[in-house]
Parts: sequence; structure tokens; C-alpha cells
Amino acid sequence: MTTNAFAARADDADGDRLKALLERAATGRDGQAWSDLWTELYHNGSLDVAHPLVLHTLADMAEADEADVAAPALHLAGALLVQADQRYENRNLRREYAPDVARLLGAANRWRQLSTAGSDYCPLIEAVLNLEGDILWAEALFEGILSEEYELECPDPDGCAPVWVVLGERGFFSTAEDYALSDDEIETFPLHPADPRALDGLGRRLHDLALRDGYDDVALVLRHVFGDATCPVCRRRFSVAGQIAGLG
Ligand SMILES: [Zn+2]
Repeated sequence: MTTNAFAARADDADGDRLKALLERAATGRDGQAWSDLWTELYHNGSLDVAHPLVLHTLADMAEADEADVAAPALHLAGALLVQADQRYENRNLRREYAPDVARLLGAANRWRQLSTAGSDYCPLIEAVLNLEGDILWAEALFEGILSEEYELECPDPDGCAPVWVVLGERGFFSTAEDYALSDDEIETFPLHPADPRALDGLGRRLHDLALRDGYDDVALVLRHVFGDATCPVCRRRFSVAGQIAGLG
């Protein structure tokens, strides 16, 4: 057997495994299939993200009627596109599968309007941003919104200690310690939320979208994300979103 014939056979085997995993995931009852797709497509790349089945099938799942299938399909597709943007520093995957990406984006926006809980809503906005591909830090942005805290760096060039920014039910403040793990009284500094009328760019868009979709609590958090925090060490005020963008 020549090397090429061997490679072709390996490709067939990979294609078969990919097809089987996607079919299992589409049933909506197979968490292991989703976990394997994340491992093989995203984490270790043992399956090829540019295979014609990947984005096409994920778009089919996103357009079907099952929220439990659409949500993970949108999440995975968005993450794969952003990873490809970062890894290859080009947008070839988006270009090659532009019709599928457009279908995924349309589905994400439809599901966004149908969602009834912030915990479902935020991942859909993350997917919208990832599918649009204009910013590559949506994952870091929404991970912090959902976990109600960010661990950021102070922008001071001398490098202060990490700054914990807490926003949500525990309040809206920055601190020098991981508040969730600390039992002691610790010094906190209130956040400075953006005036909604002064928001612009991405902050304006996401804030207004959350209000329009009926998520006032998400809009309130976004005003803090797109506002300022105070470094507990040097007391410098800095843009929270500006430092999150550095994590992406
Ligand atoms: Zn500082």
C-alpha cells in the first residue's frame, strides 16, 4: 500500500467516526458524543474541523426544533470558528463555509429571542459574537458574566497583583483576593458602571440587545463590564472590558 492510499483510508475512517459522532449528538440524548466532538475537533484536533460535514451538520442541528441540540451545536460551531481564526490568523474556514456560517448565525439570533433564562441567553449571545467573528474574546466575556467574576490584570506596566472583578448577586466590586474563596473581611472597591447613554460600540450593542430581549439583569451586568474597576493595589481606574479583551 502506498502512503497516499494509507492516508486515504485513514481519512475515510476519520470521516466515518465524525459522521457517527454527529449523528449521535443530533439525537439530543448523547452527552458523550458532544464531549467527544469537543475533544476531537476543538481540544486535540484529531478530527478535521474543515471536513465538509462539520459546520454543515452543526447548522442543520441549529436549525432543527430542538433547543437541547441547537444550543450545543451553536456553541461548538462558534468556538471552532474562533479557534480557526486565531490558529491560522486568517478567516479561510469562515469563507469556505460562509453559507453554513450564515445559517448558524440566523439560528443563533432566532434562539436568542426564544430563550427564557439568562443562563440560556448568554451562551447564545456568545455564539452570535463568535459566529460573526468581529471579536475573538466573547468566550472570556460571557464566562465571566455567567460565573459572576473575572480574574484580570491591572494595566499598570509594573504589574500589580491580579484584580478580581465581582459582578452579580454578591455585588459589584473589585478586590485583591479571590472573593469566592475568602472567609475574611476583605477590602472591596465599588465598580463604576458605564452610563447607558455614554456606551458605544460593542457595549452599546450588547446592552441594548439585552434590554430589548427582556434581560434587564444582563444589561445591568453589561454596564459594569463596559465600565471601570479600581485596582486594589495602585488604585488606578481601568476599563474592565479592555482587560477582558486581553484574555481572549
Ligand atoms: Zn494596579
